[in-house]
Amino acid sequence: MSREREVVEACPTELFIGGKWVAAESGKTLTVEDPSTGTALCDVADASPADGKAALDAAVAAQADWAATPPRERGEILRRTYELMTERADDLALLMTLEMGKPVAESKGEIAYAAEFFRWFAEEAVRIDGGYQIAPNGSGRFLVMRQPVGPCLLITPWNFPAAMGARKIGPAVAAGCTMVIKPAAQTPLSMLKLAELMTEAGLPAGVLNVVTTHDAGGVMEPLIRDGRARKLSFTGSTPIGRKLIEQAADQVLRTSMELGGNAPLLVFEDADLDKAVDGAMLAKMRNGGEACTAANRIYVQAPVMDAFAARLTERMAALKVGRGTEDGVDVGPLIDGTQRDKVRELVDDAVDQGARALTGGSVASGNGYFYPPTVLADVPRDSPAAREEIFGPVAALFRVQDASEAIAVANASRFGLGASAWTNDAAEKDRFAAELESGSVFINGMVKSDPRLPFGGIKKSGYGRELSVHGIREFVNVKTVWIA
Ligand code: NAP
Repeated sequence: MSREREVVEACPTELFIGGKWVAAESGKTLTVEDPSTGTALCDVADASPADGKAALDAAVAAQADWAATPPRERGEILRRTYELMTERADDLALLMTLEMGKPVAESKGEIAYAAEFFRWFAEEAVRIDGGYQIAPNGSGRFLVMRQPVGPCLLITPWNFPAAMGARKIGPAVAAGCTMVIKPAAQTPLSMLKLAELMTEAGLPAGVLNVVTTHDAGGVMEPLIRDGRARKLSFTGSTPIGRKLIEQAADQVLRTSMELGGNAPLLVFEDADLDKAVDGAMLAKMRNGGEACTAANRIYVQAPVMDAFAARLTERMAALKVGRGTEDGVDVGPLIDGTQRDKVRELVDDAVDQGARALTGGSVASGNGYFYPPTVLADVPRDSPAAREEIFGPVAALFRVQDASEAIAVANASRFGLGASAWTNDAAEKDRFAAELESGSVFINGMVKSDPRLPFGGIKKSGYGRELSVHGIREFVNVKTVWIA
C-alpha cells in the first residue's frame, strides 16, 4: 500500500461524540476529494441534525467535570497534544496535503504552527487570573473571577484545516470549556485525526466532539438556537458569519467572528525593494493565496512600480505548480472547482476592464483545480478584483502617488483584517501604524499570526481576538463578586 493510502486509511472517518467514534445516525457519508486530481480520497460520516444534537448533549454532559478539572491537568493535555503533533508531523502533513492540496512543506509548516498554539495555551491554562480588592471604605471585599463560558460551538474553514481549529480548541480546553467542532466539508480529515490524537493525549470523553456534514446550516443552526451552548466561535466568510450572528441573536449567544479579509500591501519608493518583493511573495503566495491575510491589493508608489512589477512577475512566473506531494512544488491546486471559477471570474473581469496579466491569467486544461500564479497590473480600482477577496494565487497591482493616497485607498475597503507597509521612513512607519484601518498592521513584514499576539479583524472582517491572552478571554466569563 502506498504511504498516501496508509495515511488516509489510518484516519478516523466517523463522528466523534462523547468519546466514541460513531456512524451518522442516517448511515450517510460524504466524499472527501483530493483537489489535485478531483478524485475521491475516502468517505466520512455525514451528520444530520440529530447527530449534531447528540454532540451538543455530550458537550453539555461533560461541562461541569471538565470545568472542575485542575488547570494544570488541562494544560498537560494540551502540552501532550503539542508533543504528539510534533512527533507525527510527517503523517499529519501528508494527510492535510491530500485533502487540501497545499505542498507538503507548507502542510508541515501548518502542523508546527497549529502545534504551537496548543503549546501556548498549555501555558495559558495556568495563568487565567482575576482580581481582589478591599472595598475603599473597608466595608467588604471584591473579587473578579474568570470562569469557563460553558459548551462552545466552533466552526472552521478549509484553508488551514488544523490551525484554524487549534486556535479555538486550545483556548477552549485551557479555559475549561467543552465543545462541538464542525470542520469544513472539504477538509474533515485533519480535524478527525486531531480528535484521535487529543484523546491519546488524555482529553476526557465529551470535551471535544467532532461533527462532519455536508449540511452545515441544517446541523449547526439548531445548536446555535438550542440555548445550551454558551459561545460560538466562527472562522469563515463574511456572508456566513453575518448569518450566524443573526442566528446567535436568538439566545444572545456570545460570538467571535474571524471573517474575510482583503489585505492591502503598500510599497514606497524608499523601501528596500528586494525585501518588499520577498515580503509580497510570502504575503501573497502563502497557502497558494488561500489565506484571509493574503496580500490581495498591492499599492506601489509610482517611481518604483515598474521595477517592483518586473521582479514580482519574474518570481511568480518561476513558481512550480503541481500536486502538493511532488518534490519541488511551490503551489498546489485551489480547494475546488467553485473556488477556481471564482478566481477565474475575478481575473477575467479585471482584464475586461483594462488590467494587464503580466504572467498567468488563464487556466490550463487537465485534472485538478489548478490556477497559475498571476500578476495583474493596472487593475481598475472599482473592479471586483480590487473589492472582493481573491483567495487564490493572483497579485493585483495598483499605482499610487504618495502615502496619503495609499492610506486612503487601503482603507477604502469594507474589510479590515491585516495590512502591511514597506518603507524606511521612520515617521511614515508610525503614520501607517496609526492610520491603517485594520486589526493588524505590519511594517516591513508580512501579515501573520503568532501565538503571542492577538489576531482578529475590524469592520466586516469580524470581531473578537484569537491567540495571546486575548484568545483565552473569548472563552471565559468575568464574574464580579462582592463579599460584605
Ligand atoms: P465559509 O463558506 O464561510 O465556511 C466556513 C465554515 O462555515 C465551514 O465549516 C462551512 O461548512 C461552515 N458553514 C457554511 N455555511 C454554514 C451555515 N449556514 N451555518 C453554519 N456553518 C456554515 O468559508 P470558507 O470558504 O470555508 O473559508 C474561506 C473564508 O474564511 C474566507 O473568507 C477567509 O478570509 C475566511 N478566513 C478568515 C480567517 C480569519 O482569521 N479571519 C482565517 C481563515 C479563513 P461547509 O464546509 O460545509 O460549507
